[in-house]
Amino acid sequence: VSLNIPLLPSDVTLIAVSKKQSDAKIDQALAQGLRHFGENQIQEAIKHWKDRRQNYSDLTLHLIGPLQSNKTKEAVALFDVIHTIDRPKIAALLHQEMVKQQKHLPCFIQVNIGDEPQKSGIAISELNAFHAYCTQEIGLTIIGLMAIPPANEEATPYFQKLKFLADDLNLSELSMGMSDDYQHAIECGATHIRLGSMLFGDR
Ligand SMILES: *Cc1c(COP(=O)(O)O)cnc(C)c1O
Repeated sequence: VSLNIPLLPSDVTLIAVSKKQSDAKIDQALAQGLRHFGENQIQEAIKHWKDRRQNYSDLTLHLIGPLQSNKTKEAVALFDVIHTIDRPKIAALLHQEMVKQQKHLPCFIQVNIGDEPQKSGIAISELNAFHAYCTQEIGLTIIGLMAIPPANEEATPYFQKLKFLADDLNLSELSMGMSDDYQHAIECGATHIRLGSMLFGDR
């Protein structure tokens, strides 16, 4: 069954979120030409991509889920882009690992854009200091901001806020927008959208 891939502006990167999907569907996405994939968990990502990497040299793998400090080695080894830098300890450990592996990955800072207590992401009030820490003190390559707006609310105001924060920090990349709201995200300036269920069907 072929996947339903939306037509997008050429400057928007479509990240196919392959978490919890079958091998058949992942192979179908590759057959249809998709090359950017997002995963939430390191172990599952290794299972999906370690071997496929050998056959597709032009893959770009994005880590879009929370990173634990004991998984930084595997994360740096497998992924090409990290979207979920959200606290000083993880930023420092990741950088150490990048130096060790001589693999300096582009990163996004994840922002807790709805200021929700249970959500990952750096608080908006701490963003500027955290960005300075990541770039100046540690030397991470921060290319943009990422966020997941609160569920069951209109997403557009949160996308606009993330765009404003990125502009303020002179960051060009914005990872925002999922199956239900990606069109709004693009209107607000998303450069990377992360689509799971609308491409692959339910998980
Ligand atoms: C699962 C996930 C997605 C994809 O969500 P869909 O609603 O299935 O498109 C996007 N971003 C993150 C961070 C996710 O965890």
